[in-house]
Amino acid sequence: MTPPPRTATLFHDVRPFGGPARDLVAVDGLLVAEVPPGAVVERVDGGGRLALPTLVDAHIHPDKTSWGEPWHSRRPAHGIAEYVAGDVELARALPTPVAERALRLMSHAAAQGTRAMRAHADVAPAYGLSGIEGVAEAARKLAGIVDVELVAFPQHGVVRTPGVTELLAEAAASGLVTHIGGIDPAGFDADGDGDQLGTVFALAEEHGLGLDIHLHDRGEQGLAPLRDIAARTRALGLRGRVSVAHAFAVAGLSGTELDETADLLAEAGIALTTVALSATTILPFRRLAERGVRVGLGSDGVRDSWSPFGDADMLHRAWLAAWALDARLDEELEGCFRLAADGGAELLGLPKADLRPGSPADFMLVDGECVPQVVVDLPRRDLVVRAGRVVARDGRLV
Ligand SMILES: [Zn+2]
Repeated sequence: MTPPPRTATLFHDVRPFGGPARDLVAVDGLLVAEVPPGAVVERVDGGGRLALPTLVDAHIHPDKTSWGEPWHSRRPAHGIAEYVAGDVELARALPTPVAERALRLMSHAAAQGTRAMRAHADVAPAYGLSGIEGVAEAARKLAGIVDVELVAFPQHGVVRTPGVTELLAEAAASGLVTHIGGIDPAGFDADGDGDQLGTVFALAEEHGLGLDIHLHDRGEQGLAPLRDIAARTRALGLRGRVSVAHAFAVAGLSGTELDETADLLAEAGIALTTVALSATTILPFRRLAERGVRVGLGSDGVRDSWSPFGDADMLHRAWLAAWALDARLDEELEGCFRLAADGGAELLGLPKADLRPGSPADFMLVDGECVPQVVVDLPRRDLVVRAGRVVARDGRLV
């Protein structure tokens, strides 16, 4: 009996990174140099479009979103505790279950060219594990389209909110999460008895999970926990499995102080994520990368109780990063694209999608001229390809 012929998908007339037109050939989810002999060929016409790797959202909160829901009017809020109260209020007011809202947002993200994401979902007595379960359900429905890592995020604090430690333990044992979260151990979560970092590191170690800790505190209040996180990471042998989100304290550093902190993080194997909120909070990702620190870019909350902004479109997030950095030069604009494409991929441990033979056949086709121009103009994603298969056309999943 002869085996069935292999199938290849040939994307004809595309321009990888804006270079000369050629064909891209995908077999078994990977790009190959040419169509294998005897393969059955499915042909997709690229129409001379630009081909770019699809992107990775290294930090998003799908459980909190009101994306696709009626407009939500926000009240003034000051400090994390008031924002958190707003989260609970919005979650109770929204008529649509988490799983459905998360699926809607994550589908939209995938159709805009997100191939993978690290999603945070709140774990607190106000919700139990419903956020985790809802996002996990959405992720199951999007299997093969977008890869999802899930963080059990103690947004309400571990020390300051009774019951969170037990829920985190339940989440860790559920098999649904890849990471345990944390939040501002020296600021927001410092009031109370207990040791947040001790608790979350112990859970991660016990269950073989990674850690992804929100750190908004600036100055020494942020840097001291960062040193603590680095020491615990080394002591528990969790190198490569710990990341810190926002790290505004690092964004505030320059010169020798920045280099020394970068070296500490690189040596402990700790990655950072940034969401490009502003010139003062975006991480100096190129300098950090030069010193061996992995940095990913993310959406953070999307149209949630904290902010009406955000759209889960990682190309737009690259635009925001470029805007925040006052980018003018092509290399600066391309650097923001690479942060969205490669930074998150490295953080999530995914193979780089660089459109070369052997790399994942994960790319998008857009009407455009070159990478810097695409970052500025944000063209519609005409076609999104995941593992060699067309998963979205014209900004919608097929
Ligand atoms: Zn966040």
